[in-house]
Amino acid sequence: SELTAGTIPGVLAAAACSRGAVAVDGERLTYPELRDRAVRAAGVLARAGVERGTRVVISAPSSMRFVVGYLAALHAGATVVLANPAYTSHELEALIARSQATLLLVDGSATTTAVGTLDLAELDDPGLDPHPGAALDSDDVALLAYTSGTTGTPKGVPLTHGALLASIRGAMRSWRWSADDTLVHALPLFHQHGLSGLHASLVAGSSLTVLARFDTHELISTAEHERATIVFAVPSIHQRLADLDAPELRPLRRLRLITSGSAPLSPAVADQLYAKAGLRPLERYGLTESGLDVSNEYGEPMTGTVGTPLPGVEVDLRTPDGDATDEGEIVLRGPQIFGGYLDDPDATAAAFWPGGWFRTGDVGRWDDGRLVITGRLKELIITGGMNVAPREVELVVEACAGVAEAVVAGVPSQRWGEEVAAWVVSEPGHEIAADSVIEHCRSRLAPYKCPKRVVVVESLPRNAMGKVVRSALVAP
Ligand code: ATP
Repeated sequence: SELTAGTIPGVLAAAACSRGAVAVDGERLTYPELRDRAVRAAGVLARAGVERGTRVVISAPSSMRFVVGYLAALHAGATVVLANPAYTSHELEALIARSQATLLLVDGSATTTAVGTLDLAELDDPGLDPHPGAALDSDDVALLAYTSGTTGTPKGVPLTHGALLASIRGAMRSWRWSADDTLVHALPLFHQHGLSGLHASLVAGSSLTVLARFDTHELISTAEHERATIVFAVPSIHQRLADLDAPELRPLRRLRLITSGSAPLSPAVADQLYAKAGLRPLERYGLTESGLDVSNEYGEPMTGTVGTPLPGVEVDLRTPDGDATDEGEIVLRGPQIFGGYLDDPDATAAAFWPGGWFRTGDVGRWDDGRLVITGRLKELIITGGMNVAPREVELVVEACAGVAEAVVAGVPSQRWGEEVAAWVVSEPGHEIAADSVIEHCRSRLAPYKCPKRVVVVESLPRNAMGKVVRSALVAP
């Protein structure tokens, strides 16, 4: 289809005719320069044995070298496996073994000996011959992503060039992305959400600036300096922006779009951003396995809903038996969805309903044609035989005076099987008493949904995308 056509090296070649530029951590290249660097670097990778289908792990923070190495690997035909550079050598070796990668690209010194290793700096030499490019089509696997593992062991998710392009093209159409746009983000490139900003910029030939790390002031000053039109963000970034004073946020008023995704956006944070800076984050929804699927409509962002299906995407709600329902598991169909987990036929079989519907594990309902996410099946708390959706309780706890953020999960209980527990972070200058949180919930929730235990913590355990790592919550 139109959405899946082509490959990432193909869109890079097309972008080389555009005026846009890519800047990462202060280094800037025009598209012709970027393409030139990438095709020459691909020659080095080919000499190191990379060909169509070779799995290459990249373990590096966001940098221009990362971008060149990524695009070079794809140009040479590789499947790229992204690693968080914060991994220990043990974790990195486990990833290499799991993904059966045969080459590791690092920034600086290597910490593993499992496979051949190349420093991204070795790809810098401009004297190298350009690589003609592997013969690829949209069905070749570009990325071997891993689910973030916030609720379990990460699973390998092969994503084709076509699926990655379809995922971003649908959103770009909805968001009216053009070659005149400038995207700024501080999301890590080693994560799909961050990388999708690069893909979008290549497709449009628009400008991109990636910050090596997130800092509120740097994000704002860069957006101002680059005359950004779009900012990609996640709820933890919005939270930090909302803590600033109105004058500090003023430069962001010029944005035409600021997105939120990867986790639910708190309505209170959205309200604060609107009150202080007139900013309305546009929430969208997606998964590692399916890319971008649902988004609020451009120009009409609302809180409490992730919006309507993006072009090419079908969304349905199902009961545990697979029947259509008003509130149930969100299932998806479309050209952006993966074909199955790596070497895991059981997980793959469990992930799809007949007809090719992908089971997201998220629960939702429709509200006036817009999708509202009400929980996640794997996070569902079952207490005394009753089901409790943590998100519903979190929204109530977060509305309690003095609570900045909260996460709710089940903890083992002899009496109830599981008991509802809440971990809360207080607003600066507030001291929350566990009892007052419980009291607040009692007047708003049925007794079985009320947290039985409340733990006040300094901060919540989060992954690189700012998502709460539930498996790292310490039970009270
Ligand atoms: P794992 O499956 O390994 O536990 P994960 O589900 O966190 O990890 P990802 O694919 O990174 O893996 O995240 C997708 C999930 O993120 C979705 O299933 C959904 O629960 C959540 N999510 C993404 N965007 C939103 C959003 N806008 N609102 C609410 N939840 C969201």
